[in-house]
Amino acid sequence: MTELVDRLYCGERLSDSELAALIAADDKETADLLRSRADSMRQRYYGKKVFLRGLIEISSCCKNNCLYCGIRCGNSEAERYRLSKEDILSCCQQGYELGFRTFVLQGGEDPYFTDDVMCGIISEIRRLYPDCAITLSLGERSRESYQRMKNAGADRYLLRHEAASERLYRSLHPSEMSLSNRKNCLFTLRELGYQVGAGFMVGAPGQTVSDLIADLRFLEELRPHMIGIGPFVPHHCTPFANERGGTLELTLRLLGLLRLMFPNVLLPATTALGTISPTGREQGLKTGCNVVMPNLSPVRVRKKYDLYDNKICTGEEAAECRGCLQRRIESAGYFVSAERGDCIEK
Ligand code: SAH
Repeated sequence: MTELVDRLYCGERLSDSELAALIAADDKETADLLRSRADSMRQRYYGKKVFLRGLIEISSCCKNNCLYCGIRCGNSEAERYRLSKEDILSCCQQGYELGFRTFVLQGGEDPYFTDDVMCGIISEIRRLYPDCAITLSLGERSRESYQRMKNAGADRYLLRHEAASERLYRSLHPSEMSLSNRKNCLFTLRELGYQVGAGFMVGAPGQTVSDLIADLRFLEELRPHMIGIGPFVPHHCTPFANERGGTLELTLRLLGLLRLMFPNVLLPATTALGTISPTGREQGLKTGCNVVMPNLSPVRVRKKYDLYDNKICTGEEAAECRGCLQRRIESAGYFVSAERGDCIEK
């Protein structure tokens, strides 16, 4: 197994069966080697920098019914909210003062946020913070919508493909949704000049090693600037309430693999990883991650953006995620960069 890690580290492309062997390798020797090779690769490109993204969760209203997600429209117990333009701008102001140079506006697919509404918000953020990157994560929209929001000043778009295997995608989503539309959205976003983030959940119900290989191969085809992965975590009000969640070990293995396969990619240590283990994000950082996304949403709504159970950073005590994350980043041996944190050329 160690030979496979070293071949990846040298830039070789592995076959499906070789990747499968690495994905399935649950021994400590492989984990240790992947961690150290991923870390030296990350340091070769990004040094010890970690980029921060201030995450503003603008709406818990969603018209979709993804089976895994706590804010799916079929969850009648979900508490719904949407932030006003003023709320969002005040989050940006706080975030700017805390040193964030990227704002991520994420939400359910909420028809209230039409192109006109979004463009009004985006152009105001662009005017007030010309030195910041504006990232959107609002799900599937039309080419025209993506174009208008780009023109208004958005730079980046996060849209996890969720599952590149047709069979798995269908079992995680209602029949109205399709993998081909999701992939088309990603290619459109790229074409329009967005910096694009794709990604998937690790350990989603029914996911096999070959499904994960399909995810890696799709990422090779898309070549996104950022790859967001995190463990699937069950939510008690969804059809997957009783399913098992993804593990820390498998998520770390995939993070290490991603860093070696995509050396210059932006790779976040996600909140879901921090949710399944108290040191999950630190371990992610040591296994190739170079981005963290502190929550900037108003504390009064944080519990309502309830994608999965036990999501961290939702209590009063977490009002200021910035300091907490900085300490965690430094304890892992890295430092917070003051830059916008664009993906560097390979
Ligand atoms: N509506 C937007 C944002 C979705 S929320 C969109 O469609 O892109 C952001 C991500 O949270 C999703 O892409 C999904 O991968 C993740 N997520 C949702 N439910 C989850 C769960 N139960 N466990 C782990 N991650 C989850």
